Amino acid sequence: MGVLVVGGGPAGLITARETARAGIDVTVVEEHAEVGVPTHCAGLLSVDGLERIGVRPLGFVVNAVRGARFFSPSGLSFKIEARRPKAYVVDRELFDKALAEQAAESGANIVLGKRVKDVIVHEDRADALLADGHRVGSDAIVVAEGVRCALTRALGLRAPKRRLQAAQMEIAGVDADPSYVELHFGRRIAPGFFAWKVPLSDDTLRIGLACSDGRALARLTRFVKRELGGRGKVIGRSASLLIAGGPIGRTYGDRFLVVGDAAGQAKPTTGGGVIFGGVCALHAANAIRRAASLGDWSASVLKDYQRGWMKELGRELRLMLIARKVADRLSDRGIDRLFSVVIEGGLAEGIQEVGDIDFQSPALLSLIRHRSAFGVILTIAQDLVTSSLT
Ligand SMILES: Cc1cc2nc3c(=O)[nH]c(=O)nc-3n(C[C@H](O)[C@H](O)[C@H](O)COP(=O)(O)OP(=O)(O)OC[C@H]3O[C@@H](n4cnc5c(N)ncnc54)[C@H](O)[C@@H]3O)c2cc1C
Repeated sequence: MGVLVVGGGPAGLITARETARAGIDVTVVEEHAEVGVPTHCAGLLSVDGLERIGVRPLGFVVNAVRGARFFSPSGLSFKIEARRPKAYVVDRELFDKALAEQAAESGANIVLGKRVKDVIVHEDRADALLADGHRVGSDAIVVAEGVRCALTRALGLRAPKRRLQAAQMEIAGVDADPSYVELHFGRRIAPGFFAWKVPLSDDTLRIGLACSDGRALARLTRFVKRELGGRGKVIGRSASLLIAGGPIGRTYGDRFLVVGDAAGQAKPTTGGGVIFGGVCALHAANAIRRAASLGDWSASVLKDYQRGWMKELGRELRLMLIARKVADRLSDRGIDRLFSVVIEGGLAEGIQEVGDIDFQSPALLSLIRHRSAFGVILTIAQDLVTSSLT
């Protein structure tokens, strides 16, 4: 019967690619008529991360950036940078299409324009019920449905926490520094998250934000006006949800796995889920390979998947979740004070040395181990106490 993957995004396609490479029959069912459309993504993918998920940077790369500038609510700023490009800015539609091509070349069957409306697990098979009334049987189902999480819930798992509303515009005809991403913090701009500017070139930006109060589009419109003052032409818009609450507790069961955003496998600090979802997809394919060789698709075999991704990413995700929770509670004054400590204590250089876009724990820990750490901790503690009293 083989494996059925629901969802033709990065997590589903990488699972399918690796499963097919292991010689196992695999079919991806994607509800849209085309892979990669519509797109909701800033398209920032680390150079090292792409290599980790087995994707060569080809025609989908639009730009390469080597640093980031961070802005506090009152306009304090610092930057971290590297000598070589640290991340690519990609065209997500072309990126997803490249993954689909890889999966198909490896032997995966990709079915477009079909929605899976339910999944039913039996003792001897797992069935996907399609919206057109057809039923597709398989040995196991991989749910890679992204942020919607309808099937994840139908399987009795909980959806990821903290799904934040996000909005983004692509704006041409502006002044942009093509080498740096910008991150803007503050409750007035983006409560519970931040706003970003990702350069596509020296005159085109992706500018977006996510926030916890459900007013992403109104806030983005205001932010764009503040930053660009009416300059530039909007050439694209999107709105979606972004995952910032860490992974769900259980990502497998008898004859099923949940991978990618559907499992909350995105970085809680930034919401970036392409690389982490891709890494988890590699672990999903490993578990599938083992289940196929044993002819045993029970949870007791498929739990290897969870063990694998937890071993590689669990600590990172936990630390990033703590950082996210602390950041969420800081007031604008607290963020400003934290920026002052970082700038005056020269912490940015320390972050720069160990900083990694995906594996952020060395950078987060460098803040705590730095000689100015006392200032960082005191600032955070003071702010948390003050905000809990007001
Ligand atoms: C504004 C914004 C900016 C972002 N920027 C970045 C970034 O710069 N870098 C980064 O790494 N991440 C970013 N992300 C997150 C990133 O987009 C996701 O983490 C990533 O797309 C998750 O991949 P996935 O395969 O799990 O899910 P998706 O990419 O969402 O793919 C899921 C697929 O499943 C299909 N599907 C869903 N339900 C069904 C069904 N029932 N039947 C059939 N098909 C179905 C969908 O159509 C979709 O194609 C951003 C997200 C947002 C909202």
